[in-house]
Amino acid sequence: MNRHTGMNDLSAVIEADRAHVWHHLTQHKPYETVDPKVMVEGKGMKIWDATGKEHLDAVSGGVWTVNIGYGRESMADVIRDQLLKLNYYAGAAGSVPGALFAEKLIGKMPGMSRVYYSNSGSEANEKAFKMIRQIAHRQHGGRKWKILYRERDYHGTTFGALSAGGQAQRNAQYGPFLPGFVEVPHCLEYRSQWGDVDDYGERAADAIEEVILREGPDTVGGLCLEPITAGGGVIVPPAGYWERVQQICEKYDILLHIDEVVCGVGRTGEWFGYQHYGVKPDFVTMAKGVASGYAAISCTVTTEAVFDQFKDDPDDPMGFFRDISTFGGCTSGPAAALENMRIVEEEGLLDNSTKMGERLLGNLNALMEKHAVIGDVRGKGLFCGAELVADRKTKEPAPEAKVKAVAADCMEQGVIIGAQNRSLADGMNNALLFSPALIATESDIDAITEAVDGALGRVFG
Ligand code: PLP
Repeated sequence: MNRHTGMNDLSAVIEADRAHVWHHLTQHKPYETVDPKVMVEGKGMKIWDATGKEHLDAVSGGVWTVNIGYGRESMADVIRDQLLKLNYYAGAAGSVPGALFAEKLIGKMPGMSRVYYSNSGSEANEKAFKMIRQIAHRQHGGRKWKILYRERDYHGTTFGALSAGGQAQRNAQYGPFLPGFVEVPHCLEYRSQWGDVDDYGERAADAIEEVILREGPDTVGGLCLEPITAGGGVIVPPAGYWERVQQICEKYDILLHIDEVVCGVGRTGEWFGYQHYGVKPDFVTMAKGVASGYAAISCTVTTEAVFDQFKDDPDDPMGFFRDISTFGGCTSGPAAALENMRIVEEEGLLDNSTKMGERLLGNLNALMEKHAVIGDVRGKGLFCGAELVADRKTKEPAPEAKVKAVAADCMEQGVIIGAQNRSLADGMNNALLFSPALIATESDIDAITEAVDGALGRVFG
């Protein structure tokens, strides 16, 4: 009997998966000859697959989500209790956990005031885009309708979010996209577009202003940025960047929308990534770590000044936000989010994220001394990346097959790390990604970097 499933034989499950499940982000051809991976059970930092193999998860459920770790009984308890009390009601009425979580969340976000619930990161971003467009209609005669997004950032998989997507490989065969979304340059100094400049942060922010001036400031209503770019290669903005971005938004009356879908709720050592930089956003969106994957929930958080614009004319049939999210009415989401926040707070996970993140960065920097293939190491809190290059001088990206081979070798060793791959643009997708749960210990961090050390040695010699 497999102790993780209570089932004698999981081969039927694997066959059902092979026959009928279409996995996310996956080329399925190899599954004609090798078994697809099916995950079965998780506890803390560990996860077991259908063969019974144990893995140390350094990516929090594959995509930066399970911030508080697997198998939390108190999460299951609050969700069960809430489901039995009232599982769902949507539309114009609120719910007890919805009200309580909103109050608690706003307590962590000085300057913010309102929470709009939905259930995925993409959806939360769509809501913000719609709010910005509606403000353009109501306040600016429809003129300020354009939304700027940044090269290498990602905001989701729906058409609005993809239209704001700065990663070519995610968009290539899904166009045409929505008009009115305009790209600004990335801010990764390691791959500076302006050569060696002293004030790279300000230069990269000025590039946003150049786009605004080119498009016409009276046509630009919003700017959507990740606080620290995630899937685009863990890009920590350079000094001076955010201060200048804030000034530019104020100068041209542009609403600042920060996508905290990955960075939110402790991932970078603060409650939110933007809080490292003293930025004052108009919109903050969040999803993954809000309930750590125990329930589906996302939030679009706004200031009271934004909210006020949707209630100033009660007689106008368009004078409010004409939007709904059916499953934004699932009460398990905010109930789970409340408990998730309690855990982060009471277990000191922001502090642990900072401390363990420093250890992870330190270990990766030490590996850089040993492995010439590591060109750059970056990160904040338990959110780190290491960019692999064929040549440190030219910064030519390491071949994709080898980047993937490092992750596959770690997987063999029982450590799951992330690897960007399948980029359509050189130097855009050759990083190893690390985002362990915020409960990681020193020995977890050391085990992760030991696995990477071994893998780099075997793959690159
Ligand atoms: N925003 C960012 C920064 C993300 O990384 C993602 C997903 O990875 C999303 C938005 C989309 O979230 P979801 O997959 O929940 O729609």
